[in-house]
Amino acid sequence: MTRLVLKFGGTSVADPDRIEKAADKVAAEVARGHQVAVVVSAMAGVTNQLIDYCRKISPLHDAREYDAVVASGENITSGLMALALQKRGIAARSWQGWQVPITCTDMHGKARILDIDRTLMDERLNSGEVAVLAGFQGVTSRNRITTLGRGGSDTTAVALAAALGAERCDIYTDVNGVYTTDPRIVPQARKLDKISYEEMLEMASLGAKVLQTRSVEMAMKQNVPVQVLSSFEDPIGSDFPGTLVTREDDIVEHQVVNGITYTKDEAKITLIGVPDIPGMAAKIFGPLADAAINVDMIVQNIAEDGKSTDVTFTVTGTDLQRAMEALNKCEELKNTDIRSDESVVKVSVVGIGMRSHAGVAQTMFKTLADKGINIQVISTSEIKVSVLLAAEYTELAVRSLHAAYGLESK
Ligand code: ASP
Ligand code: MG
Repeated sequence: MTRLVLKFGGTSVADPDRIEKAADKVAAEVARGHQVAVVVSAMAGVTNQLIDYCRKISPLHDAREYDAVVASGENITSGLMALALQKRGIAARSWQGWQVPITCTDMHGKARILDIDRTLMDERLNSGEVAVLAGFQGVTSRNRITTLGRGGSDTTAVALAAALGAERCDIYTDVNGVYTTDPRIVPQARKLDKISYEEMLEMASLGAKVLQTRSVEMAMKQNVPVQVLSSFEDPIGSDFPGTLVTREDDIVEHQVVNGITYTKDEAKITLIGVPDIPGMAAKIFGPLADAAINVDMIVQNIAEDGKSTDVTFTVTGTDLQRAMEALNKCEELKNTDIRSDESVVKVSVVGIGMRSHAGVAQTMFKTLADKGINIQVISTSEIKVSVLLAAEYTELAVRSLHAAYGLESK
């Protein structure tokens, strides 16, 4: 008998009506003879509301109590979903994280799952009962409630699918799959039938916010096929209407490039006149690392005069101010001109086919050149080429690249 995990995000369970529609999907999978475990998010907006309450009462709140509060949103949905299933004549019960139990680290607010004990849930599933698990939460070895970070229900769902040996994890959400790019910018963007874990990981961390990045990492490691699909359209997961995130080997037809992504939360820092002596890079980036600031793209020029050089790198826009403070305090940079620019965007082309195809980067550079768009910084990985551009060119760059790689729907 096939086991499935079905996850419903906040918009898919936003009110009692939508919970009923989601319950219909579950019922349809049960009717096809599948064993089903459901993972639910909090109803849309509820987590934000709970976080807001914590902040109002105590801006510097105790992280353990914060977790106790924000985890409660999912508890409500799990009970309501169990009721909706029972109304349909399906045996069902709700599970909170501690009841499974799902054991987590004690990093409150961003805990990681250490273990899922499948024993109890296994028994119930085998007896034909549907398990409805509250996502996003777990319990520490000290018996305190934890949460997994925003969007963490995706990770709960994938982890549960791995623990239960489920055949697939269907993530029901408000979009019907993963697209070649943002359809709001390019109306011709095409829904992908399949995408590899590696590509999805690049797209997720680059800002295609369909799945929590950590859930994709876990799916890849545990080899769980994950389908992203819409809860607002008729077909159910077993009809495969969405995008399947799966192993590279399971994808027959390979495109060289599968997606164009962009992130606007970028800032560029340029250091002009950095002494060209050994150890400078460590001195610049050390204080940033100490302040837990992630540096992304880095370029260092050669020193023309043999004495000083320029270094450019990017951080997230959110971290810019803290980065500037750390650099301004740096003794070795007291004669260096430190500049920053927040009106930049990082545009990337992603595709596993890049491993075996030459010329992908060149197509990108030529396309941008033809549009008169200046490239400020370039970085590459095995399956991605990223460029930093002036933010005003975001739409033009994304549209032109999408066309240049032939990604439009036919
Ligand atoms: N409710 C949590 C959030 O809004 C977890 C989730 O929905 O995945 O972040
Ligand atoms: Mg989500």
